[in-house]
Amino acid sequence: MLYNTKSYGLFKAPCNNLGVQIVLSMEEKIYLDNAATTKVMTEVSEAAAYAMTEVYGNPSSLHHMGIDAERLIAYSKKQIMSALGVSQEQGEIIFTSGATEGNNTAIFGITETYGKRKKRVVTTTVEHPSVEKAFDRLESAGFEVVRVSPDENGEITAEALVGTVDENTCLISAMLVNNENGYILPIGEAFQKIKKRYPDCFTHCDCVQGFEKIPVSEKKLFADIITLSGHKIHAPKGIGAMFIRKGVRLSPLMVGGGQQKGVRSGTEPVPMIYAFGKAVEILNTDLSERSAHTSEINAYAREKLPETGAVILSKESASPYILSLAVPNVRSETMLHFLEERNIFVSSGSACSKGKTSDVPTEFRVAQEYLDSIIRLSFSFETNRSDIDALKEAMSDGMKNLAKIRK
Ligand code: PMP
Repeated sequence: MLYNTKSYGLFKAPCNNLGVQIVLSMEEKIYLDNAATTKVMTEVSEAAAYAMTEVYGNPSSLHHMGIDAERLIAYSKKQIMSALGVSQEQGEIIFTSGATEGNNTAIFGITETYGKRKKRVVTTTVEHPSVEKAFDRLESAGFEVVRVSPDENGEITAEALVGTVDENTCLISAMLVNNENGYILPIGEAFQKIKKRYPDCFTHCDCVQGFEKIPVSEKKLFADIITLSGHKIHAPKGIGAMFIRKGVRLSPLMVGGGQQKGVRSGTEPVPMIYAFGKAVEILNTDLSERSAHTSEINAYAREKLPETGAVILSKESASPYILSLAVPNVRSETMLHFLEERNIFVSSGSACSKGKTSDVPTEFRVAQEYLDSIIRLSFSFETNRSDIDALKEAMSDGMKNLAKIRK
């Protein structure tokens, strides 16, 4: 054996020998940006290292090393299927580079195969850019795109989604949990009704912010395609997966060696896939305890943070993992950097847009006065009350000192 895999644990990897300067090293930090990405669990990074250094065959190779690599992929598929409550008879798991690729593959894959005559497609106005922009492109290509907005209460009802679908609708794509405020859309109820009335309309759900956080079951979602991402659940960045119901034919985004049933050509990234499977296995064993812990943290934050003058924006019924709030009279970015100086890491709205303002809060009817003061906290099973206490103290200071310099 060349490597002792244990010595390749998360923080022992020789990053600095590679000449990369890391801004923040091992200092104590309070990380409240888990909807942007999560820390890879040690067991998960060890699984990746094991696959890289021990089981490094190409899964398409016919010899034993290929078969072993294939077994790691099979293990991960099994974990994801079990977490979604699906069997092999019901569909396939296809691995992607992440949810951006998964969402693009679902949307373009369906419309290319089934959208020649059915030119109507439906989505919402609160989707992640990887869905939003795919629909913009469909619109440019001549599709009739219907975008459902939240109503005056900031809700998207199942009726509103169902009501937009007709016999000419090829696809409806909607997220389960909004990444900016944790709002949970009534996907199961809507998709069930849609499939009953229009069995030929394909249903796609971006479950990135729901998977391994709130219960996500294929049976309850009635989705033909489900998109998942590894790095939101303590697996590495660069790996995602899709559940594709049996019989659904997706035109691939890329052509090549025909791996993964031709839906996603390219040699499978076995270490990433194995790591993803490991994360799912670990999280799935005590999903409800982790959720209960996160709900408790969320409730604590909802109780304590308004004492600083902050205004909670996320609905009580939102995912416990995401809490959106406004820090009145302070710009989001100003507060973000103020907190960062105290080693507390949060996000201003959604991290995906890197400074670009999102329309999603306006869509959710957030009051105009709060729009440039939104902070997103997102928790993990590692977040604890002392993190919220430290955040509260820092936010209080921030509210006192920063409000003055705003104008
Ligand atoms: N959908 C949602 C709801 C997300 O939050 C994200 C990540 N911000 C994505 C899709 C894209 O995921 P990935 O980074 O894996 O491409």
